[in-house]
Amino acid sequence: MTQAALQVKGVSYFYGDRPILKQLDFGVEDGEFFIIIGPNGSGKTTLLKTLCGIETARSGNIDLFDRPLVGYSKTAIAKKLSFVPQIVPVDFPFTVLQTVLMGRYPHLGVLGVEKDHDLEIAMQALTFSGVEQLADRRLNELSGGERQRVFIARALCQEPKLLLLDEPTASLDLSHQLRIMDLMEQLKQQQGMTIVMVSHDINLAAMYADRILLIKEGALVSLGTPWEVLTYDTLESAYDCTLLVDKSPLGPFPRITLVPRKCLGPNTRGGVAP
Ligand code: ADP
Repeated sequence: MTQAALQVKGVSYFYGDRPILKQLDFGVEDGEFFIIIGPNGSGKTTLLKTLCGIETARSGNIDLFDRPLVGYSKTAIAKKLSFVPQIVPVDFPFTVLQTVLMGRYPHLGVLGVEKDHDLEIAMQALTFSGVEQLADRRLNELSGGERQRVFIARALCQEPKLLLLDEPTASLDLSHQLRIMDLMEQLKQQQGMTIVMVSHDINLAAMYADRILLIKEGALVSLGTPWEVLTYDTLESAYDCTLLVDKSPLGPFPRITLVPRKCLGPNTRGGVAP
């Protein structure tokens, strides 16, 4: 049986008295590309933070590689997983290389001094992410797409088995969106890395995800392959809009087209079978 990277059992989370995550149950397999979607405010970021131990669930359990997450030290978690948050403050004067080297912290000795080996791993991460030519530039001088790839490089420098990313393609132009998604697919295929990503883009999720988790108001709506989750009925009720679902001309995945009001007609209804 495939090992689970994450096993989430009955997880609930509250801000004050307000339930944000409601009794979530799901697993992520080792080596899987797993994408979490859902309307704004449905709890996706909170879920991601709970999965990496930044927030603690009020009830339920999370196992990370078959051991309870609560039993891991912070350093032990950082050796297993890296988290790329949506917004990282960049008003500090570090260079790209210094930023990426920070990813080595769980692997450094008590003195916290980097060795040649750490520098080697940092350079590999920079090269993999396609930002090696920026190594000496300062972070606040970079474009959004360059910066996002630097933060991915920093996460990879941690040498994680599991990478969690919160909307890494938000605010990027089309070619940078594809570049990030292709990088993730490469990590999965070449290194067997498990990728858990929150995405607002259901067409990218359809093309890249092995499985998709759709949540709304903190509750699980649907979990399965893109064809199982991205159905007309499920999407219409989750997002409250009209859309068309058909087969992508590019491959065996669904394609979702939003239907503007001016194109609505009596027969406007999606859900074409694969
Ligand atoms: P999503 O990522 O799906 O947009 P979030 O996880 O960011 O959703 O937020 C889920 C809900 O929790 C939202 O209603 C949001 O307003 C609320 N929320 C997020 N952060 C806080 C906070 N620090 N304090 C109180 N409520 C919060």
